[in-house]
Amino acid sequence: MTATGMITLNETTVATLRSNLRGDLLTPEDAGYDETRRIWNAMIDRRPALIARCTGAVDVIEAVNFARAHDLPVSIRGGGHNVAGYALCDGGLMIDLARMNGVWVDPQRRTARVQGGALWGDVDRETQLFGLATPGGVVSHTGVAGLTLGGGFGYLSRQYGLTCDNLLSADIVTADGRLIHTSAEEHPELFWAIQGGGGNFGVVTSFEFQLHSVGPMVTAGLIFFPFDQARTVLQGFRDYAATAPRELFCIPLLRIAPPAPFLPSSIHGKRVVGIVACHIGALADGEAAVRPLRTLGDAVVDLIVPKPYVVHQAMLDATQPHGRCYYWKSEYLPDLSDGVIDTAIEHAEQLTSPFSLIGFFQLGGAIRDVAAQAAAYGRRDAGYALNIACSWQDPHEADKHIAWTRQLWRAMQPYSTGGGYINFLSQDDDNTRVQGALGGPNYARLVAVKNQYDPTNFFHMNQNIKPTV
Ligand code: FAD
Repeated sequence: MTATGMITLNETTVATLRSNLRGDLLTPEDAGYDETRRIWNAMIDRRPALIARCTGAVDVIEAVNFARAHDLPVSIRGGGHNVAGYALCDGGLMIDLARMNGVWVDPQRRTARVQGGALWGDVDRETQLFGLATPGGVVSHTGVAGLTLGGGFGYLSRQYGLTCDNLLSADIVTADGRLIHTSAEEHPELFWAIQGGGGNFGVVTSFEFQLHSVGPMVTAGLIFFPFDQARTVLQGFRDYAATAPRELFCIPLLRIAPPAPFLPSSIHGKRVVGIVACHIGALADGEAAVRPLRTLGDAVVDLIVPKPYVVHQAMLDATQPHGRCYYWKSEYLPDLSDGVIDTAIEHAEQLTSPFSLIGFFQLGGAIRDVAAQAAAYGRRDAGYALNIACSWQDPHEADKHIAWTRQLWRAMQPYSTGGGYINFLSQDDDNTRVQGALGGPNYARLVAVKNQYDPTNFFHMNQNIKPTV
């Protein structure tokens, strides 16, 4: 017997769900339960009453109908990477899509159909077989679903837009247990809402993406400079970025150099300013595009070289491992103003953990070509997404690391466009922050879609859009 907040599940009801699923149903007593409920951020430790390890749309429908009938809270696990940890619920039903990670590429139409539990590494692996790709995240073990539903940007975005801009259609199981195919033509308001409004509207079982010619070789890597050159490096980067080609996407960052074998031992453990760069244009143009980065200061290590796109997509994976403690704050910035740069440097000097970083995802380009309200994603005018990505090993040290993150985030407020990226929000970011991320008009329209497709807020373990009916 398993006690939940609202009801007591008895063995018969659980057995019925188990027999209705093709995938496994796990209770806390089952082998594999603890392993399956583990997500990327070790700060989040919740215990679902049930975990449905779905294998397809029918399993998802069974799980949704069961949770609704038994008044169980529901969470959806795509890649399990959301820093706020909404993939995991306490005492409810976790709909785990990890086994639904299939990817099918149509090279003629240049599209890919991707299941709702796939990771970006799964997508890149299959699409690059044909020299194709769609904009994804910069860490290959991040989930496709959560990233796409919140907007999504990465190395291809200044050239090809957000991930959600490349979404052609999706299959989604709504709160009433229906499987809906949605696109710009079918259920267009729902389609608009899932392009930035997160997991508020149902469980996406598959996505269809537009693909583009990319690679297989790109000019990419990272370059580190001494920390005492941080101001001139970041100012020089800002000036170059204003005219840099769209094929180039960069993440300038401040951090402590890890003891990685590809970094000279002389900088291990020392503060550095760095730039992660990826140029996806012709290799012949790549060197000219990245050359201005090489002359921003006296580089201590320069690893920007021609390399396979899939290799670069996984370059940062080891820096963001599963099972460490994470706490993030985010803010959209119009530009890397001197105030932003000085504030970042000042707080980098106080870094509390060797794993933390202050990163600025370069936006603009094709992201801005799309009208502000063409999709639910808000704040296309931003030049950068600030990611204060704090990370540490010992859970008992949380307070000092969180305090550092909040201090820096508060100091950045005067420079914000008025919101942060929804996919970088933490669990203590409330509904005001969700509204700030999406912008007023988009948020109001999302509430109307929520009222239509999920009036009871059945899907509430997310950056929540509250229904008003
Ligand atoms: P999960 O934790 O599985 O899910 C998060 C939420 O998404 C769920 O609570 C649910 O509401 C919703 N959801 C998940 N799957 C589904 C589904 N199938 N149907 C409906 N709703 C669903 N973002 C970027 O834009 N660019 C980046 O480069 C980038 N890099 C990142 C690197 C790291 C190391 C990490 C941890 C995150 C990064 N992100 C990036 C942020 C990322 O977009 C979010 O963490 C995102 O939520 C991850 O998706 P997920 O499926 O792994 O999340």
